[in-house]
Amino acid sequence: MIGAFVNYLSDVLPAQRKLTKPFCTYCNQEYSLWNYLIYPRRCSNCNRKRPLRVWVIEIIYLGISLWLYHTPNVLFGYWGSLVLLAYFGVVVIIDMEHRLILHPVSLTGVAIGAILGTILHGISNTVLGGAAGFLIMLALYFLGGIFAKFIAKLRGEELNEVALGFGDVNLAGIIGLLLGWPGILGGLFLAILIGGFVSLAVMVVLVIKKRYQLFTALPYGPYLVVSAIFLLYFRGIFLS
Ligand SMILES: [Zn+2]
Repeated sequence: MIGAFVNYLSDVLPAQRKLTKPFCTYCNQEYSLWNYLIYPRRCSNCNRKRPLRVWVIEIIYLGISLWLYHTPNVLFGYWGSLVLLAYFGVVVIIDMEHRLILHPVSLTGVAIGAILGTILHGISNTVLGGAAGFLIMLALYFLGGIFAKFIAKLRGEELNEVALGFGDVNLAGIIGLLLGWPGILGGLFLAILIGGFVSLAVMVVLVIKKRYQLFTALPYGPYLVVSAIFLLYFRGIFLS
């Protein structure tokens, strides 16, 4: 059910900016709730199957639910972690599919981050971590903007892509609430490290395929999320 809910939010929010009836992402034909949640078949209007992502997400959240259920003393408890990981799923899917982190999604994240962060390390460390994440990413956002303008000028081209979106700044603030101070410093560092490795891998593949363009912008939100999940749930692997 959580997987279906994550799919629903990822389909509906970028297109409508509010919670509407589920609809076919190809032709906008409305689905009945039953058809959408329990038995997602072909669209009755355009006859196209729902995208592969729907099934991948269902399977991933089935796995997550089983893993949380069978982990003793799991962080935030079963339901707390399920909400957090569902939230992260929506952020990552919308960012990857639309290169977008929506403001209502960010606001929800602030609420989730503030509550779970306070449980983990108290109010002051949570607020400090959130502010640090937001401000450090804000500085990178402006630096990236200056850098992109500089490059565009060098190449005599109009600027049409930015490396970091403001959604990434908000997301860094949310992750800061969750990881607290000084945990957010490690979180940002790890995200930049993962981002660097993935960008390098993508670059190598594109160079091999001869499709590489200098400064191909990639969504950054997923790296922040992967970094936060690793530090919250799997840090023990390296500490023990
Ligand atoms: Zn359709």
